[in-house]
Amino acid sequence: MTAVFPDLTTPAVAEAEHWTAHNYHPLPVVVADASGAWVTDVDGRRYLDCLAGYSALNFGHRHPVLISAAREQLDRVTLTSRAFLHDQFGPFCRELAELCDMDLVLPMNTGAEAVETAIKVARKWGYRVKGVPDGKATIVVAENNFHGRTTTIVSFSTDPDAYRDYGPFTPGFRIVPYGDLAALSAAVDDTTVAVLIEPIQGEAGVLVPPPDYLPGIRALCSERNVLFIADEVQSGLGRTGATFACEHEGVKPDMYVLGKALGGGVVPVSAVASSREVLGVLRPGEHGSTFGGNPLACAVGRAVVGLLQSGEYQERARELGSRLHEGLGKLVGQGLTAVRGRGLWAGLDIDPALMTGREACERLAAEHGILAKDTHGSTIRLAPPLVVTPEEVDLAVDAIAAIL
Ligand SMILES: *Cc1c(COP(=O)(O)O)cnc(C)c1O
Repeated sequence: MTAVFPDLTTPAVAEAEHWTAHNYHPLPVVVADASGAWVTDVDGRRYLDCLAGYSALNFGHRHPVLISAAREQLDRVTLTSRAFLHDQFGPFCRELAELCDMDLVLPMNTGAEAVETAIKVARKWGYRVKGVPDGKATIVVAENNFHGRTTTIVSFSTDPDAYRDYGPFTPGFRIVPYGDLAALSAAVDDTTVAVLIEPIQGEAGVLVPPPDYLPGIRALCSERNVLFIADEVQSGLGRTGATFACEHEGVKPDMYVLGKALGGGVVPVSAVASSREVLGVLRPGEHGSTFGGNPLACAVGRAVVGLLQSGEYQERARELGSRLHEGLGKLVGQGLTAVRGRGLWAGLDIDPALMTGREACERLAAEHGILAKDTHGSTIRLAPPLVVTPEEVDLAVDAIAAIL
C-alpha cells in the first residue's frame, strides 16, 4: 500500500521539489491557509493538524491573542538589535523568568541557538564557578537525543542521518543510554559541567523515562555540583499537561531551554532561563544574536506567556491527553504495538507488518484529512494543537483505527 495520493506532481509540489534542497520529505499537502487546529490546502481540502509544527503551534494556527499582539507590535517597532533596549524586552524577560521560576532569561531565536547558549553558559560556569581546568569541560547527554542541527549539537547525536558527513565534531560530550541513572552517574566526574537531556525524548518517538529518572538526575546534579539542563523546546509550554514536563516529576532543573511554542507559531523565539549564579557568568560581548529578543519576538512571547499563566492550556492538554491516550490504548494489539506519551503528545508504533509510518501518514492525510508525521520507520507522532476539541481528538483516533 503506497502512493495513496493520486497526483504527486501538482505544479505546487513539483515546483517545491525542483527548487529546494531535499533535506525534508514532506507529504504532498500544499497548505494555503490555516486557523486553530485546521489547515486548508490549495485545492480547498481541510486537514486536522495533528503535528502542530512539532509543537511550535501549541496554541493552534493564528491564535487571535497572538496575532493581535503581533499586529500591534508590527505597527510600533520590530527590530532594534540588542545595542539598544526596547519596551517589550524587560517585560518579556521578567514574565518568562517568573513563569519558569528562574532569575534570568536570555532570549534567542531557534531551539538550536538556545541549546548552543546553554552549552556555552554551562562551560563558562564550569570554568569560572566550578573550577574545571580550562578546555576540559564535559557535558553528559543521552542516546537518541535531539537538540538541533548545528555542528556542535550533531557532534553528540547518535543518529547517523544527523551527524554523518558533518565532522570533524566538537569534543566534550559523553553519551549514555536514556533512562539509565547508573550509566549517567558513572559518566559524571570532576570535569562534568552539565547533564543535558530532554525530559521526554520527542524526536526519538516520544519516549517517557522511568519515573525516578528526572528526580535521580536532580539529586545527582545537586550532589556533584553539575548543572541539570532540561531541553524543554518540545516538551515544554503546555504540551504534556504542565507548563514544563519536569513538573510531572516535581523536579526543577538548573536551566530550561525553550523554543518552538514560545514563538506562538508566529515568529521564531527561543530562550534559556536559569539562576543568577549561572546565567550571570555572561558579560557584554561574550554571546549574542542580532535578532534574539527583538521587539516582535518579545511581544509575541509575552502573549504566549500570558496564555500559559491561566493554566487553561495545560489543563486542556491534561484532559484531552487522557482522552487521546485512552483511545489509542485500545488500538494496541489491533495494529499498534505500543503507545507512549504524556498529555496531548503521543508516539505510536505501527506493526511493521501492516505498513510503514510514512504510509500510515500518507493514508491519514489522503483518506481521513489528518496530518501527522512519522519518525524512525514505524513510529507516528501525534501532537495536535492544545486548542483541539474532544470531538477532534476522537476524529484522529478513529482515523488511526480505520487505517489499521
Ligand atoms: C526542535 C527541537 C530543537 C531545535 O529547535 P530548532 O528551532 O529547530 O532549532 C531542540 N531541542 C528539542 C528537544 C527540539 O524538539
